Amino acid sequence: MSEKIRIHSIETLGALDGPGLRTVIFFQGCPMRCAYCHNADTFDPCGGREESIESLAEFCGRYGNYYGKKGGVTLSGGEPLMQHRGAAALMRLLKQKGINTALDTAGSIFAPDALDAAELVILDIKHTDKDAFMSLTGYPMDNTLKTLEYLQKNKRRFWVRQVILSGVTDGLPQVRKLKELAVGAEKIELLPFHKMGENKWKTAGVEYTLKDAVPPSVETMRALNAELNG
Ligand code: SF4
Repeated sequence: MSEKIRIHSIETLGALDGPGLRTVIFFQGCPMRCAYCHNADTFDPCGGREESIESLAEFCGRYGNYYGKKGGVTLSGGEPLMQHRGAAALMRLLKQKGINTALDTAGSIFAPDALDAAELVILDIKHTDKDAFMSLTGYPMDNTLKTLEYLQKNKRRFWVRQVILSGVTDGLPQVRKLKELAVGAEKIELLPFHKMGENKWKTAGVEYTLKDAVPPSVETMRALNAELNG
């Protein structure tokens, strides 16, 4: 029987989630509750719609001419590793079709099958301190660290990402620790917090706690990036 995946939506030709132009498949379901999440409508693992991996691969293939050498398909969410068997099968099928794959994950589920199937893993490390990680996400850091160690030990291609939230992740020592942790990463991306997904929290019926939060300043982002690249 064909493997099915529960997805939230598909974005064609996005330029923000991995190299080049990419089709981004947003998986439904996430066990974390990051305070700044802009995809709260993906929380519910029973929401969204089901699609077979064949129909998803066929859809992504229609845009093959736009991907070029760098671009391809990114699996994002939600947490794609909540459906790691389907995610791995989809990435293997896309590879057979000559389409490059990236897996955008917070590593909340430890899933070597999907980590091995992805040509690039983009690992979002929410915070470098275990207690602060728990308080920001409502979820333990253990699987994220296990995922990072697996990528490093097996010499997989990976990037590391972190959202910069004022008063939470914007300290220089925190970013220094991220750089130390991310040994072997091709790239580390710092993304300034924004409030674009605030309304989705209302729809999900969960309280949004960052109503009064403001994005980090340009100067802060510059200083943190200088620390990373120094
Ligand atoms: S891991 Fe991603 S989708 Fe899940 S709550 Fe955090 S930001 Fe939202």
